[in-house]
Amino acid sequence: MKPVAFSHTLPDSVVEATRLAAGGVDVKIIGGGQSLGPMLNLRLARPEALVDVAALNDLRRIADTGSHVEIGATIRHAEIEDGAVPDPIPGMLRHVAGGIAYRAVRNKGTIGGSLCHADPAADWVSAMTALDATLVIAGQDGSTREVPMTRFMEGAYRTSLEPGEVLCTIRIPKCGADARWGYYKICRKVGEFADAIAATVIDPERRYCRVVFGAASGAPLVARDLALSLAETGSAAPQDEVKDALLTLDPALDSIKCHQLAVAYARCLAEAMPND
Ligand SMILES: Cc1cc2nc3c(=O)[nH]c(=O)nc-3n(C[C@H](O)[C@H](O)[C@H](O)COP(=O)(O)OP(=O)(O)OC[C@H]3O[C@@H](n4cnc5c(N)ncnc54)[C@H](O)[C@@H]3O)c2cc1C
Repeated sequence: MKPVAFSHTLPDSVVEATRLAAGGVDVKIIGGGQSLGPMLNLRLARPEALVDVAALNDLRRIADTGSHVEIGATIRHAEIEDGAVPDPIPGMLRHVAGGIAYRAVRNKGTIGGSLCHADPAADWVSAMTALDATLVIAGQDGSTREVPMTRFMEGAYRTSLEPGEVLCTIRIPKCGADARWGYYKICRKVGEFADAIAATVIDPERRYCRVVFGAASGAPLVARDLALSLAETGSAAPQDEVKDALLTLDPALDSIKCHQLAVAYARCLAEAMPND
């Protein structure tokens, strides 16, 4: 199929993008087009206008502020894979980026587009939750607001973005020198969306430990009890306890998904603590 006819506008600034995006007709913001493009072609989305933010300079900034790494929303997966972004924790961003789809998709798809699309199986939504990222969002009146990743995704394909808002920056706290991470994605073939994701970040310097499960039914599951047990014992909880924790977080998980997530967690921890 082909998309319905739409106008395609390249705004000069974030303020103009937000004004156009709030502009009365049925408008969609487009970043890399790797999720929206297929939806347009299948006519699952039928906007009258596209506001293309991919080339906006303000959305392409990368910064190391000392305490945080800031990534512009339209930085592409391939740029992160290739090391264009400083590490908030050595190697994690490049690892996650390199596991998204295949290179042609990574050359166009953006980190911000992925977060805004809010696919439960998407890699960045789990990784940014594990890293405790904060999203900086611009509104139509020139204002900005900050939303922690844990509150940004409200469910499958649902976020806290209001009409006309544009995601500008992803701000990630930098971890200490002895921090560790694990990220394990189970999928049938390399380049596919995940069947299960487990991610962990352990940063003793900040007294931070988070365990996250992705590719469930909605927003990533943040397993606080498992993180506490990991921080206290330094090792994985037994698989039965992991499954109990998962079912407490999401009672609707079926037994196969629950098992996949528990296996992903064991492998993720084996990456995080290879010698323990
Ligand atoms: C074959 C294939 C395989 C894939 N496999 C994976 C995978 O394994 N893992 C994975 O994580 N992803 C995967 N993806 C998705 C890919 O990562 C997309 O790049 C990503 O989901 C969307 O990013 P985008 O920049 O292309 O966004 P777009 O498609 O342009 O937009 C997606 C949505 O976000 C909105 N949006 C975009 N940017 C902004 C912004 N700055 N502010 C507000 N709203 C915005 C749009 O309006 C739209 O609703 C795959 C895609 C394809 C086609």
